[in-house]
Amino acid sequence: MNLSLARFTFFGLIIICVVSGITNELKARDTEVTDNGETNAPIPTLIRLTILHQGTQLLDRADADVAAEIVRMFTSEGIDVLSPAKVVSVRGRSGTEVTIDIETGFGESQISGSDVFVATGRIPNTAGIGLESVGIEVDERGCIKVNERLETTASNVWAIGECAGSPQFTHASLDDFRVIRDNLAGGNRSTRNRVIPSCLFIDPPVAHIGLTEHEAKRQGIKIQVAKSPMMAVLRTRTIDEANGFMKALIDPTDGKILGFTMIGPEAGEVMAVVQMAMLAGFQSTVLKDAILTHPTMAEGLNVLFSNVKPASSDVGNTNAKLAPRE
Ligand SMILES: Cc1cc2nc3c(=O)[nH]c(=O)nc-3n(C[C@H](O)[C@H](O)[C@H](O)COP(=O)(O)OP(=O)(O)OC[C@H]3O[C@@H](n4cnc5c(N)ncnc54)[C@H](O)[C@@H]3O)c2cc1C
Repeated sequence: MNLSLARFTFFGLIIICVVSGITNELKARDTEVTDNGETNAPIPTLIRLTILHQGTQLLDRADADVAAEIVRMFTSEGIDVLSPAKVVSVRGRSGTEVTIDIETGFGESQISGSDVFVATGRIPNTAGIGLESVGIEVDERGCIKVNERLETTASNVWAIGECAGSPQFTHASLDDFRVIRDNLAGGNRSTRNRVIPSCLFIDPPVAHIGLTEHEAKRQGIKIQVAKSPMMAVLRTRTIDEANGFMKALIDPTDGKILGFTMIGPEAGEVMAVVQMAMLAGFQSTVLKDAILTHPTMAEGLNVLFSNVKPASSDVGNTNAKLAPRE
């Protein structure tokens, strides 16, 4: 393809943390509208992206190797990640020209660009709406106080989702709805011990469920760690996308899966397979020995769990119970 440089638009984009939909917004701005009102194909855009993160590690609740792989992938695509970086001041107007003064471990410096995307988190919209006048208490973050049945401190008043302090995911809010619906119908459904998965939709996505390695260490939980690069999953070669890895935490005593993280194509879908095994209480040998379609991303689970040592109290291969009768 022969494109002259004049057809490219350069942006210096600065993100204070990651947000989605960036490229689409910039592409929309690049779309040419001709004199007769027709819309041309977007002009190819070159984006220089800088992520400023004030914590020491991107995705501060993830394991260090997960964060490091994301930074490595970003860097290999020309995205600069500055972490920790303290934003001292912002000048200019996002959408035209912006300069940000920052402090990093290397001292003070400036970054200039065209756009700033700010992602500094969300807070509950509970202040000043009279909750206290009807006996609904909030905690120090402004979240409505609820018990594990999602009842507030006022009788017959329930709270759901992010404003009740639930994890900030659509599927968590959906489950809150199910808890309240069933409790209103006389049930006793609870939010206790919920294992809530997450998927970060970067490319490739990052999916996680259950325990992380650093959390296991912090809590003194004994684990066995299995890790496998996406390169070992044959499907990644057919789609030419071999970044990332799969990682699982296994209880060395009973062989059950305690946590799973994947950076790679279809990570959210593969995680759901592991999640089902966790919900069913299967040993990891089930996923090691399952006959999975070739070539799929889920097939990588065979490889991942083949690295796991047998559990000290091996209760047998649960997979055998699943075998169809001849
Ligand atoms: C950019 C972005 C991307 C996201 N991507 C994902 C994703 O990929 N996957 C995922 O699982 N989650 C994602 N989330 C999170 C997800 O959207 C939320 O966790 C989810 O919507 C929370 O549901 P909720 O019902 O608690 O709150 P909301 O969906 O925010 O609903 C709260 C409602 O209450 C209304 N409201 C607020 N104050 C008042 C008031 N005083 N009186 C009356 N009504 C009021 C609001 O207008 C809103 O309609 C994303 C969030 C953002 C911001």
